[in-house]
Amino acid sequence: MIYVTSPIMPDFEEFVSTIRELWHTRNLTNNGTFLKAFETALEHWLGVPYVSVMTNGTLPIMLALRSLGVESGEVITTPYTFVATSGVLEWMGLRPVFADVEEGYGTLSPSAAERLITQCTRAILPVHVHGYPCAVDDFAELSKRYDIPVIYDAAHAFGVKSGGHSILLHGDMATLSFHATKVFNSLEGGAVVCSSLEQKQRLDRMRNFGITGEVSVESEGLNAKMDEMRAAYGLLNLRNIDASIRQRKHLSKVYDGALQGVRGVRHPAIADGVEYNYAYYTLYIDAQEYGHTRDELYLYLKEKGIHARRYFYPLVSDFEPYKKYLKAAQSLPVASLMASQVLCLPLYPHLSEGEIKEIAALISDFSLKI
Ligand SMILES: *Cc1c(COP(=O)(O)O)cnc(C)c1O
Repeated sequence: MIYVTSPIMPDFEEFVSTIRELWHTRNLTNNGTFLKAFETALEHWLGVPYVSVMTNGTLPIMLALRSLGVESGEVITTPYTFVATSGVLEWMGLRPVFADVEEGYGTLSPSAAERLITQCTRAILPVHVHGYPCAVDDFAELSKRYDIPVIYDAAHAFGVKSGGHSILLHGDMATLSFHATKVFNSLEGGAVVCSSLEQKQRLDRMRNFGITGEVSVESEGLNAKMDEMRAAYGLLNLRNIDASIRQRKHLSKVYDGALQGVRGVRHPAIADGVEYNYAYYTLYIDAQEYGHTRDELYLYLKEKGIHARRYFYPLVSDFEPYKKYLKAAQSLPVASLMASQVLCLPLYPHLSEGEIKEIAALISDFSLKI
C-alpha cells in the first residue's frame, strides 16, 4: 500500500552517535542542550524571531491562546481542517464559531469571519490549510479594527514563505506541528512562533507548569515540554528539510505533467510571491466532468493499493461533538464543496517518479470507465 505520506528521517548512525551524549549525561529532558539547539536551529531555518518547542502540535495552539489571554468566549475558526484546531477550543471551554472558507485554497474567509464577530469574540484562529497561505493582510486589518488577536494554526505551513518572508511572521502567534505525517517531523512535536522574547519566556514557562525557580511558580501551566531524544532527532532531521522540499516540488511537477489532459481534475496553482512547501498534492475532482465522484475515485485507488486521503472530510462542524456550535440554519457552502471534492495524493520525497506516473495513470484510466 502506498500511503499519502511517509516521514523523512535522520541518518540512523548519525542519530545514534549524537545521542551517545544523552547516555553519558543522563540529561533527558527539562530545557536541555538539544532542545535549546533545536530551537535556535528552527529560528534560523524558518527565519523567525522566537520559537518555543513543545511536545506535539496541539498544545502550542492551547498555550498560544492562553498566553494571549484568550480564556473564555468565542473563537472564529475554520471547519475545513484537522479536528485538533477546534478540539483545543472545546477543551479550553472556548466556543468555536465556524466561518466559511475561500474558494481556491480553502483557507478561512476574512469576510465570512468578519460577519460572525460579536461582543463575545475573543480571537480568530485561521489555518494555512495544506500549507496555502491565508489572506494574512485582511486578517491583520480585522485584528486591528476589532482589537482581537489572530493566531494561525500553521501545522501545514513549515517553510512556507510569502513575499520572501516566512508566513509564520503573520498574526499574533503561529503554531507548528512536527508530527510524523507533516513535512518536517521530530517523531511528535510542535512549536509556537512568536515575535518577542517576553512572549517566548511566557510560553517556555507555561510549557513547564509555570515554574520559574526551585520554589516559585509564577503562572498557570502544564506539561508541554519536549524531551532531549526528540530534540536531537529533530535537530538532525532539519538537515534533510531543504532537499526534501526540493524533491517534493519536483514530484509535484511530475504529477502536474502526468495529470495534464485528464478532464475534471484540477490542482491549484501556487499564488504569485508564495514559496510553497509542497506539503500536499491536492486534487479537486469535479464529478460531472470527471465522470466519478471524489469518493468513488478514493475507493478505486484504495483497491489498487493507493491510500490517498480526503483531507478534510468530514468538516469538523459535521462531527458529533462540534455540530452544536453551528448557528441555527448556518450553512458552509464552500467548505462543504471542498470537503466533497478534494483528494490528497501520495507525496513524499522518497516516492518515485514511476509510482507517481502509475497513480496518475490510474486516475486517468478511471475517468474513462463510465
Ligand atoms: C496535525 C495538525 C495539528 C495537530 O498537531 P499534532 O502534532 O498532531 O498534535 C493541528 N492542526 C492541524 C491543522 C494539523 O494538521
